[in-house]
Amino acid sequence: MSDQPTPMMAQYLAIREANPGALLFYRMGDFYEMFFDDAVAASAALDIALTKRGTHQGEPIPMCGVPVHAAESYLLTLIRKGFRVAIAEQMEDPAEAKKRGAKSVVARDVVRLVTPGTLTEETLLEARRHNFLASFATVRDESALAWVDISTGEFRVMPCPPARLGPELARHAPRELLAAEGSRLDDIALEAGAALTELPAGSFDSGAAQRRLGAMFNVETLDGFGHFSRSELAAMGAIADYLDLTQKGRMPLIRPPVREAMGGAMQIDAATRRNLELTQALSGGREGSLLAAIDRSVTAGGARLLERRISAPSRELGLIHARQSAVAHLVEDPRLTADLRDALSRAPDMDRALSRLALERGGPRDLAAIRAGLTQGAAIAAMLGDDEIVVLAEAARDLTGHDALIDLLDDALVAEPPLLTRDGGFTAPGHDADLDETRRLRDEGRGVIAGMQADYIAETGVTSLKIKHNNVLGYFIETTSTHAEKMLAAPLNARFIHRQTTANQIRFTTVELSELETRILNARDRALEIEREVFARLTRAVLDQAGSIGQAARALAEIDLSAAFADLASGEGWTRPQVDESRAFVITGGRHPVVERALKRKGEAFVANDCALTQGDTPAIWLLTGPNMAGKSTFLRQNALIAILAQAGGFVPASHAHIGLVSQLFSRVGAADDLARGRSTFMVEMVETAAILNQADDHALVILDEIGRGTATWDGLSIAWAVMEHLHAKNRCRALFATHYHEMTALSARLPGVENATVAVREWEGEVIFLHEVRKGAADRSYGVQVARLAGLPPSVVERAREILHQLESGEDKGAGRPAALLDDLPLFRAAPSPAPAPAPTLKAQPSAIEERLRALNPDAITAREALDLLYELSGML
Ligand code: ADP
Repeated sequence: MSDQPTPMMAQYLAIREANPGALLFYRMGDFYEMFFDDAVAASAALDIALTKRGTHQGEPIPMCGVPVHAAESYLLTLIRKGFRVAIAEQMEDPAEAKKRGAKSVVARDVVRLVTPGTLTEETLLEARRHNFLASFATVRDESALAWVDISTGEFRVMPCPPARLGPELARHAPRELLAAEGSRLDDIALEAGAALTELPAGSFDSGAAQRRLGAMFNVETLDGFGHFSRSELAAMGAIADYLDLTQKGRMPLIRPPVREAMGGAMQIDAATRRNLELTQALSGGREGSLLAAIDRSVTAGGARLLERRISAPSRELGLIHARQSAVAHLVEDPRLTADLRDALSRAPDMDRALSRLALERGGPRDLAAIRAGLTQGAAIAAMLGDDEIVVLAEAARDLTGHDALIDLLDDALVAEPPLLTRDGGFTAPGHDADLDETRRLRDEGRGVIAGMQADYIAETGVTSLKIKHNNVLGYFIETTSTHAEKMLAAPLNARFIHRQTTANQIRFTTVELSELETRILNARDRALEIEREVFARLTRAVLDQAGSIGQAARALAEIDLSAAFADLASGEGWTRPQVDESRAFVITGGRHPVVERALKRKGEAFVANDCALTQGDTPAIWLLTGPNMAGKSTFLRQNALIAILAQAGGFVPASHAHIGLVSQLFSRVGAADDLARGRSTFMVEMVETAAILNQADDHALVILDEIGRGTATWDGLSIAWAVMEHLHAKNRCRALFATHYHEMTALSARLPGVENATVAVREWEGEVIFLHEVRKGAADRSYGVQVARLAGLPPSVVERAREILHQLESGEDKGAGRPAALLDDLPLFRAAPSPAPAPAPTLKAQPSAIEERLRALNPDAITAREALDLLYELSGML
């Protein structure tokens, strides 16, 4: 037992030390092996056997490994579990190492660092989603966010004050976030579901950034791409640095950075996205989300574009109108739409093929993908002709002009090339004369062998003689052992040279056969070499036009999205919304696309509802009451979704819609516990509500569902009340406010911009029937007891609840009911008093101190801060 590590272990340890923070996949023949702590962690994460190999400093070395051919699926598991993996390959043929001496180790080096934000393999990526790597930088008092998808080359940057980081990350949902060491973004990254990678401050140096970006785009100055602030440069520079680090110098193909203006998109924060289930259902998956319900795209690029549009609906009227016109045009021409979709469905993902080719991870199929994509693109451009619709015309223009490249690829590639370059066979005959000649020699050689076998049979008289091939011997002549004596004797032994005897066979070669074999092998090797050259040449030709191919890919995505929206609109009876600069929000016959779809599957119909939040120019708020399960949440959400769809450029699920541009969308529900961050339900709800009251401007749309539910009744009501007043007086935004506090319906009499609405139910023989119809006016009662019965509460409990309700209601009917006081008197905690009825409560006519305090108040005259203080005071009075 020696303390000296073996030479191989010494090499391992050196590579390990140079790559901290990542599991090391150490290539040994057909396996990637892991040792020490890596092995322990990986074996647990992958559920594979942990073994031992040799010793280090007297201790056995833990080891585990995964086969190279299956490595990708293991990689995916590790990345999903939050690991980063450094891949160390053998950099030379083991035979080379042997030549240097028996003890010398095969040279190895890390060729790539695999991290969640830097994946390119098709198997590791979700085709229909982006895989963003984001980077946040602060320089002095200004900060910026940059993000890149190295699998498609998309690269963007925007100014981003720290307070906006959360919402922006929620919009992009990056897999990985880069930040300077000590920036304390753990919580924000966790919330956004991104792995946080901290880099040394040097990575964010804005001076170095200019150099790095210049090198990346091969330009002297970045001025041609626009003017960037120092923090924007720093954020982008860190990405360039990180790509260099993880891709080990092989730069992915990144498009020049595009600067996004801050106000260009509807602002939607993380809680709102979650709550509205825009791209992910609350349960976690895609199914049940808005995206899943409306995605009719037929290309992966179109699906990714839809996700982007839904995540960041536009605020630019011109753009929205242009996109709507394209959809409208296609709705009117279903033939064209069908033809386009047919052609699109045959266009592969050029963005990702391009990125693999640039990273030298591409193969012949990626070239074929470019060929097919451009070919379909040209056909699509022809279908669109000189379309007068701007979006379609621009897309068509980006799809033309690739004929030379298409011809080259068509000429060079067979129809269905194999996956790997290594084995050749992808170059079409007729493309390269040299290759054709070499292949002829190779194939002729094979023909000559057949003739040779016939000659040898004639010469030896052994009719079962065969010429065969295996990897050890190459070509050889084989007879059964019964002919051994004859073959090994004169005169045949002069020509047939013995090579091997097995149990039943005896094998020979001849001088001619070896010569022919050498010729065949040479021809084969030469053919492979020529094909490698062809591949390199074609790759260069493609990469030379990477910019315009990328543009063509984007054009295909844009057309796909327009056609998908059109298909959806025609299929589901959606309409083109009127979007303008007003503050209108008038929806007739609106529906919730996800709920409607779910109901349809069960054979049930969705009840369409109207919503009109504006009378004249008064910003309007609807206060929605109605029993649980009536459809309040559905109604609230459907209106928010309609606004999103309208500004995403699509049609909307309504018979008519008029929407004044929505600048910000907020949605809050009586929150679920946020245990991950250790805050109580109520605290979360209040923090989120505070954010709305502080931020919502007069073009915002606010959806509040059962605010105040998380605390005692009177606390809750007071808060809901004050929040409503603030929205009305200060934010002056459009809002839908659902509540079960019937007391609040009185507000509509006092506040001109507030209107009551209710979701209708009908009572029939003591049962409640949900009509799901939204009507003007207040709900008469809450039907909670009936709903509780429907939910299966024990009959004795339902009965007792009815009884209590009855008492409460009869108290209220007398006009002086003060439920708080009433509750004091109710024998709620007494054993169920059957059969004797509970005594009728005594009623007190005195207004409570809280009520007095509220009455003395002029809400319009106080600030949000004062309102909060008041809330504390009120709750203290309980
Ligand atoms: P609430 O928020 O009032 O408790 P929800 O909005 O959660 O009620 O709706 C309860 C259920 O009623 C939904 O799951 C849905 O199946 C059904 N529903 C809601 N709105 C409609 C509607 N407009 N048409 C048909 N069914 C509806």
